[in-house]
Amino acid sequence: MPLYPFGATIFVLLMRLLGTSICRALFSFVCTLWLLFAPTSFTQEESAAAPLPVYEFHSGFWLNLHHTLYRVARSQRSSSSATSPAAVNAGIANLSPGEQRAWSAAVAFYSKTYADKDLTVSLEMILVKNQLGDFETCEDLAGLKKKSCDAGLPAKLTETLNAAAPVYRAHLWQEHDRANRRWIAAVAPLVRRNGLDLAHRLAEIYQTNWPRERIRVDVTSYASATGAYTTLDPLRVTVSSFDARNQGTEALEVLFHEASHGIADSVQDAIFRECRQREKPIPRDLWHALLFYTTGEVVRPVAQNATDPARATSSAGSYSGYVPYAVREGLYKRGWENYLRVLTQYWQPYLDGNVTFEDSIAHMVSAL
Ligand SMILES: [Zn+2]
Repeated sequence: MPLYPFGATIFVLLMRLLGTSICRALFSFVCTLWLLFAPTSFTQEESAAAPLPVYEFHSGFWLNLHHTLYRVARSQRSSSSATSPAAVNAGIANLSPGEQRAWSAAVAFYSKTYADKDLTVSLEMILVKNQLGDFETCEDLAGLKKKSCDAGLPAKLTETLNAAAPVYRAHLWQEHDRANRRWIAAVAPLVRRNGLDLAHRLAEIYQTNWPRERIRVDVTSYASATGAYTTLDPLRVTVSSFDARNQGTEALEVLFHEASHGIADSVQDAIFRECRQREKPIPRDLWHALLFYTTGEVVRPVAQNATDPARATSSAGSYSGYVPYAVREGLYKRGWENYLRVLTQYWQPYLDGNVTFEDSIAHMVSAL
């Protein structure tokens, strides 16, 4: 049985004003427990001290269960062995007949109801995700033990999750929660060391401010096919602790790329404006390619320094050191070749301080 069966909140402050003793303590389980029981005093102290973004990491039981069922339902649907027990039980073994029935019924419900929906764009999936995050400390989602724990989700979903919960808790949650906490513990020192500078730089590049609210990061075993995604209003990041693309110093880039979704309006607006003036169609996902490029370039020296200080200053124009996510994962080779060209030619000079934001966007749009 894990120590905290229903999830936990861990804060990473980009500002170091609370003092190193608290910062260091943030990642011990004792402090996590303290945060859970004393959130009010912490929030007051923090809001006075932290005008820059604060990541709030969660490893929540219900969202992890939800994503696990979604993943299993999708993989079951896409595999030829649609009805095989092995597909239904992916990653889960030694079930009793009762557990097997509850788990199979939950997977079947997810297959029918959610497997076709995209976690990252379906409003229904986003609302369910946010709600499950908000109710992560509840023992059940129907308010059976505590009235305030009635999450108001569709009845069938509540019933399904409540029925699958004991199976998940007994067989998978401990492993998932441990991986989530490990991931948080690994990324936290990187954020503490570099977060303040990165946050300042990104806000400066996008000519905007970070939202004052804490940025909630839900760490889950699975987080969509891309390994991480972000939803807006409210700004929330979801990151997979298991995904190979999110490990080591790469986690820092993933985290700041995702959070940058919340401050990218200026880029989208500028691209839109330029296109309208030139009566050109808006280049699909140019803003997103720009976000990948920018986070990669901003994080690169920091990440390189973290892994191999001796090579930190070498070959600024090539990728002999840290390789940004979009390059590593071949995003520019899958239809974004022209975007890489204009980003390198017209956006990089802006990052280097040689042209203005507006001129850079105007050049990119006109060159496409
Ligand atoms: Zn993105």
